[in-house]
Amino acid sequence: MTSPFDLTGKTAIVTGANTGLGQAVSVALARAGAAIVAVGRSAMDETERLCCDVGAKFHGVQADLSTLEPIERIVAEAMGVGERVDILVNNAGIIRRADAIDFSEKDWDDVMNVNLKSTFFLTQAVARRMLADGGGGKVINIASLLSFQGGIRIPSYTASKSGLAGLTRLLACEWAAKGINVNAIAPGYFVTNNTEALRNDPKRSSDILGRIPAGRWGDPGDLGGAAVFLASPAADYIHGVVLPVDGGWLAR
Ligand code: NAD
Repeated sequence: MTSPFDLTGKTAIVTGANTGLGQAVSVALARAGAAIVAVGRSAMDETERLCCDVGAKFHGVQADLSTLEPIERIVAEAMGVGERVDILVNNAGIIRRADAIDFSEKDWDDVMNVNLKSTFFLTQAVARRMLADGGGGKVINIASLLSFQGGIRIPSYTASKSGLAGLTRLLACEWAAKGINVNAIAPGYFVTNNTEALRNDPKRSSDILGRIPAGRWGDPGDLGGAAVFLASPAADYIHGVVLPVDGGWLAR
């Protein structure tokens, strides 16, 4: 019997696949059988090697998602890899830190453009193909604990990730009956570039660690299972959830 978590024959686009969580999600989907279309600003050699090591087909697309310019090219290249695009993981994201009172328009716009605007329009472009051939699909947005909480010194990030949770629910409502599952994963505190400033601040770092029930920061590999689950037939009746993978942070 085929596993309900099997992704053999599926093609997945993963944005921001060169490092951190995007790389780990790419490898997890690859291990479950999916072909990976990895989108990144810089070289993705390491992600390619890791995906190929588990026997997956891999195609890299160099693209800067701070504007909408590359979106049609990303979708066109992805359509050339398999028969269709089955899975989209919107992982690319940036963060800017400053007190709200001093926060600049640039730090607002830069974060919103990558985390929210490009995410929406890439999803729209992929969903148009999914709807056109009637085959449905899975969209997974990488949200954050800041989809639920306020945080400090990251106003545009919190706004973008809270917006992404809302967008996840809206798209789920519009597309659930059409065979597209739209869900999100909210990672807790993971060891990646995104949290480097926090981990380098001894006080913030130990405060955060002390509040995580699991007693450790997340390893990027901890996110893979949730991504495979939401990308798989096992999640066919799941729509509009924001699934925390946070070592218990939100339960506290
Ligand atoms: P990261 O900085 O290592 O990864 C971010 C990825 O986004 C990189 O691959 C980067 O190249 C890509 N990216 C950024 N700007 C881009 C652009 N203009 N065009 C194309 N790609 C771009 O950090 P990460 O922790 O792996 O972050 C991945 C996602 O997870 C982000 O959306 C982040 O907000 C989210 N997240 C991370 C944590 C954490 O603790 N690390 C927690 C919650 C949410």
